[in-house]
Amino acid sequence: MAVLAAGQARAAEQRKVLVLYSLGSEASSAWQRLVHKGLHDEMASRRWSEAPNVFEERFDFIRVGEQASLDSMEPYLRTKYAGVKLDAIVTENYLAAGFLNSHPGLFPGVPRYYVNHGRRNWRPGDGEALEVAPDYGRIVGAIPLVAPNVKRVVVVGDPTPRVQEWIAGVRAASRPYSKQITFDYWDKQSFADLYRRAGMLGDDTAVLLLATYSDSTGARASPAEVARKLAAVSPAPVFTHVESLIYPGILGGYVLSGEAIGRVIARILHGQPADLGGVQRYIFDYPAAERHQLYKLPPDAVLLNRPMGVWELYRWQIILVGTLILIQAALITVLVRVLRSRRVALAALNDERNNLEDRVLQRTLELLMANTKLEQLATTDPLTGIANRRRMTEQIAKELDRARRYRHPLALLMVDIDHFKRINDTYGHDVGDQAIVAVAGALSAGLRSIDLVARFGGEEFVLLMPEASLETAGGAAERLRETVSQLRIEIDGGLEVSLTISVGVAASYLQEAPDSPSSLLMRADKALYQAKNEGRDRVVLGTA
Ligand code: GH3
Ligand code: MG
Ligand code: MG
Repeated sequence: MAVLAAGQARAAEQRKVLVLYSLGSEASSAWQRLVHKGLHDEMASRRWSEAPNVFEERFDFIRVGEQASLDSMEPYLRTKYAGVKLDAIVTENYLAAGFLNSHPGLFPGVPRYYVNHGRRNWRPGDGEALEVAPDYGRIVGAIPLVAPNVKRVVVVGDPTPRVQEWIAGVRAASRPYSKQITFDYWDKQSFADLYRRAGMLGDDTAVLLLATYSDSTGARASPAEVARKLAAVSPAPVFTHVESLIYPGILGGYVLSGEAIGRVIARILHGQPADLGGVQRYIFDYPAAERHQLYKLPPDAVLLNRPMGVWELYRWQIILVGTLILIQAALITVLVRVLRSRRVALAALNDERNNLEDRVLQRTLELLMANTKLEQLATTDPLTGIANRRRMTEQIAKELDRARRYRHPLALLMVDIDHFKRINDTYGHDVGDQAIVAVAGALSAGLRSIDLVARFGGEEFVLLMPEASLETAGGAAERLRETVSQLRIEIDGGLEVSLTISVGVAASYLQEAPDSPSSLLMRADKALYQAKNEGRDRVVLGTA
């Protein structure tokens, strides 16, 4: 029970781990920067509650020298971590691994992990060795794979045992290519000679740069410095075996990835088993490949500094803008459709309205014509075609009104055909009708435009003569009587019938008691009656 509780408390505590780096800070070492990036990326992808408490120390041997960095480290670590209970120690790279292995008494009992220790078939006195065995076959094979026209490979290195170990690996791996490629080894010369000779390489040549720290004169340099200078002077493509040496101008190759090493360390720090698979891979600097026109790069290669295409750079903007344009186009299409259908509907409506207006106009005209016709029918005598009694009665009222208002005279003639019954009786009703029509024609013909003649009854007519005095009207009546007496109505058998009329004339003057239509008619009728009585075929002027 108590043991279990203690175990749980231990698990809940944060792991404390120490990492010893051979190289310096990120700012001073490209390799260190890559390792750190891999380590932190891997840690960031895990649960933060499980993150270990990481302590880091650096030998920085390239900058301060191997011996100086080694001598001070042991007492420093003992003193600094005296009060810290570590759960693991991890070393990265050659120098840190050698140091820890040669100090077995340092932090006794703490598990030790030697990552990328850089020694072949090496067993540390204690702890776990995580050896990265360089794949020389692929390191060398990358050259003819990417640059098939290369006839000569210059391998650049230095005389140190570590680099000589790599050169031995390269020599072994170059054997299969000995027929088509010559391999030269530049590992025992001064830096000055190296850069001078590199500047004169032909275009059928490639360089394989191994991490180089010194030259034949004992001069020291950082591998980064050698890489930069070589890239600057060499007309030939420069391959390498470590990711951190791929500076601008260095082509790359099948390399050990610092980032992948960082991820391995992160897994160990979390207390998980380490797996070194995938720490070597093809990595190329894309601008360098373009400069040497080497485009046969392996499909699984990582390409650095590759300029992104417009699509990669602005994919979301392009999709967004494209989508917006499509939506806009759809909206415009809908709008155009709606407008078009509206225009069609409006045009139809307009047509319909015009039609309707036309029809209304037509109907109105028809109605007007019908009304006119009706009016005409209502005011016209069907037998003779002259005005009827109704029309005359209305006209008398109007003219009386006018005469009164303008103080003008108005005369009225009442005409009756003499002995008409006899005509009917002798020649028949049709001949009587012909006689009525003939008299109507004669009466109409002698009239002024302002006069009106109407058939008032069977064979009775009334003539209304505005502006005419009793005497003037009497004169006109006399002329009409004369005209009618000249008429001859032709009947079957060549017979001609003649007839006469009697006329009574009345006139309206301004009087004390103004005329009404009936009083005027009555006076004319009276005069007519008198004419009949006095023997017919005559005109009688009525009293005023
Ligand atoms: P008077 O000289 O006194 O006027 O004698 P008259 O025969 O004309 O007598 P009256 O005026 O009384 O008779 C009118 C006759 O006219 C009566 C009727 O038979 C006839 N008549 C009335 N209207 C028409 C008509 O439209 N056509 C025909 N053919 N005869 C009509
Ligand atoms: Mg009569
Ligand atoms: Mg009569």
